[in-house]
Amino acid sequence: MNLKLEGRVAAVAAASKGLGRATALELAKEGAGVAICGRDQERIAEAAQAIEHASQQHVLAVVADLSTHQGCLDFVQKTVQHFGQIDILVANAGGPPSLPAEQVVDEQWRAAIDLNLLSTIRMVYAALPHLKQSDQGRVIAITSVSAKHPLDNLILSNVTRAGVLGFVKSMANELGSSGITFNAILPGWTRTGRVEELLQSLSAARGISAIEVEQGITAGIPAHRMGTVGEFAATVAFLASQRAGFINGVALQVDGGHSAGLL
Ligand code: NAD
Repeated sequence: MNLKLEGRVAAVAAASKGLGRATALELAKEGAGVAICGRDQERIAEAAQAIEHASQQHVLAVVADLSTHQGCLDFVQKTVQHFGQIDILVANAGGPPSLPAEQVVDEQWRAAIDLNLLSTIRMVYAALPHLKQSDQGRVIAITSVSAKHPLDNLILSNVTRAGVLGFVKSMANELGSSGITFNAILPGWTRTGRVEELLQSLSAARGISAIEVEQGITAGIPAHRMGTVGEFAATVAFLASQRAGFINGVALQVDGGHSAGLL
């Protein structure tokens, strides 16, 4: 399937590693010009170079802290200054800390809202004038299955991700005639470096091997395995494509069937 991403420009936030990086690579391989951002100059430059090498597409590396308003604006503005356009915005960020619900303090709520809710809103508002000029404007927000299926000890994620779904659906409804589509993807367990580290720390805490920890997790997933970053990135690329032009306002789990409900 030709996704027709040649000549398109994608801004993929928080992409020095993990899901963001894999997504940036997939979009670049499909022919899009890509801008990526992260907080650390060296790490984001390394990611850009590796993606360029693998895709033969030009990649712009931007240093930006997405927990700040200015960082979100900088990422979008530098992308537009460099490429002259922005067609696809992939709003991603690092996850909030895991904490028991009653222990979370105000400062932690504010930090999570900044990083995992307001970053999406800020980037979308900054990108909107440019997306409106595209005939294939796409906003894809990366959230988590916790947005539909709240997980214990992840209240910061549960609440902020649900907020992102509300924002995405509202934008899809109110700007439905603009030609821009607004969708959210909800990853389930997907093997990234962060997940590998988590398996190791759970293994040490529980006194069992990392493989046993993983087996305990995947036993609850109908696919009986974790997803790959490639599978995740391919989903983003499809939603970013012309072929997905009539998909608007959805919250799509990519979780091997892990989410138990009907919606
Ligand atoms: P990751 O930790 O591997 O990557 C996160 C990226 O975000 C890194 O590039 C990091 O540098 C960047 N980042 C973090 N804080 C930032 C900030 N303030 N400004 C700019 N960049 C920042 O995580 P991942 O596994 O790729 O997950 C990406 C998102 O998807 C996270 O929000 C995570 O919670 C969510 N998620 C992941 C999984 C999974 O299984 N991997 C499942 C559900 C949800």
